[in-house]
Parts: sequence; structure tokens; C-alpha cells
Amino acid sequence: MIRFEQVSKTYRGGHQALQKVNFHIQPGEMAFLTGHSGAGKSTLLKLISILERPSAGGVFINGHDLSKVTAKQIPYVRRDIGMIFQNHRLLKEHTIFDNVALPLVIEGYSLKQIRSRVETALDKVGLLDKQRYYPMMLSGGEQQRVGIARAVVNTPPILLADEPTGNLDPKLSLDIMRLFEDFNKVGTSVLIATHDLGLIARMKYRTLTLKKGRMLSNDALASEDSFA
Ligand code: ADP
Ligand code: ADP
Repeated sequence: MIRFEQVSKTYRGGHQALQKVNFHIQPGEMAFLTGHSGAGKSTLLKLISILERPSAGGVFINGHDLSKVTAKQIPYVRRDIGMIFQNHRLLKEHTIFDNVALPLVIEGYSLKQIRSRVETALDKVGLLDKQRYYPMMLSGGEQQRVGIARAVVNTPPILLADEPTGNLDPKLSLDIMRLFEDFNKVGTSVLIATHDLGLIARMKYRTLTLKKGRMLSNDALASEDSFA
């Protein structure tokens, strides 16, 4: 589903953010990506969502060899990926409904399809009754759940999250993780970048660890445990 083969990334200016990284996330797997600030977590996620290109090596997403994806094809490949950010990036002047609808509006869905899909997504994150609210009227945890609804509204097979609980207290963080688990249970592959080791320890999923751009542990046994 997500495969990296000997992937290196050197930014302009010469900083080597990733060095010969190898890993494979199976379809339907949920995994954590951890490491100190600057270890390369965001860079790795950006290579998956084609916000950056590798300097060397191969990135394969849902059957696509990203080195063969042209600029024109990028939006189609990105449809397979739902992205969740730490600061959720909601549009303040738009309602919760409109924020979640945005990816579908861009893709040209009919109004009827948009209503049905947005309501399904908001229902999954427990915010159906707040669809007419504006982001400022919601708590931080609720705003993060809107971000998740927006990421899953077109039911992508892959969810990527970059420090999704960075601004939340431990109880809300666990709620957000349970939500990711719900999506994973229905078959979505989930990769969550976080430096919250306490949270990772409570969840018992496979953990990929980056240190200064190198992948330390890629523990296949841990992954089998999580499927047991
Ligand atoms: P993390 O998400 O683990 O904190 P990043 O992937 O953001 O790590 O960054 C890895 C390294 O690459 C850091 O040293 C960072 O400063 C550098 N880096 C990230 N983005 C860029 C960029 N656009 N240009 C140059 N260096 C960058
Ligand atoms: P985080 O740790 O939350 O991922 P970062 O501070 O690593 O955030 O990066 C924030 C943004 O700045 C990212 O888009 C990253 O690509 C960019 N960035 C990080 N380091 C550099 C750098 N040295 N030069 C240019 N851009 C950078």
C-alpha cells in the first residue's frame, strides 16, 4: 500500500533529511512513525503525498510508482490519501459542513452526493449536530475531528496524520487515536507521525522510528502482533 525502497531526500542547500529509507505498510495496516523533531517524519509524509520528490530511491503508493506520476496525474493519486495536520487548517469563515465538503466540491461531486457524504463523515466523528457551526465555536478536539472528517470524506484507502494530537490533552489524544482505529477497522491503511511515545505505548501498533533521517526499527514481528 505504501512502500519505500532506498529512499533518500536531500533538500536544496544540502541537508539530507532521509537516508536510504526502506519500509512497507500493508493494505489495512495501522502504524506509527516516530522520532525526534527534525528526524524526517514530515519529509517522509510529504514524499507520500507528493508535496516533495525523493532525491533517490522509489516510493510506491497503492500500486503507483510515484516517479512515473506526472504533474497532471498528481491530483488523481492524491485522491487515495487523506491528510490530517496538527493545526487542522480549517477555513474560519466557512461552516463545518463547508469545510468538510471542500474536497468534494473541488472534485465536482453533485450537491446531493456532497450532502450525503459530508453527513456520513461528520456522523463518524460525532459532529453531525454541529455542521452549521463555524470552527471558532468548537473546542480544539472537535476542530481536529472536523479535520479528520474532511480527510475521510472521499473515503481514501490511505490516511496520513502529521502530529494529529500535538495540541490536545492525553484524554482527547486517545479519543482521536480511537477514531483512527475505527477507520483502520474498516480497511483504511493509517500512518500516524507523532513524538508522543506514551500514546504509542498504549496503542500497541507497529512503530517505525526515524533517527536523523535513517529508519531505526522496522519491526515486522510487532506488526504481526498487532494483527493477532
Ligand atoms: P520532523 O517532521 O521529524 O520534525 P522534517 O521532515 O520536518 O522532520 O525535517 C527533517 C530535516 O529536514 C530537518 O533538519 C529540517 O530542518 C529539514 N527540512 C525540512 N524541510 C525542509 C526544506 N523545505 N528545506 C530544507 N530543509 C528542510
Ligand atoms: P514540524 O516539526 O511540525 O514538522 P518543521 O518546523 O519541521 O515542522 O517544518 C515546518 C515547515 O517548514 C515544513 O513545511 C518544512 O518543510 C519547512 N522547513 C523545515 N525546515 C526547513 C528549512 N531548514 N528550510 C526550509 N524549510 C524548512
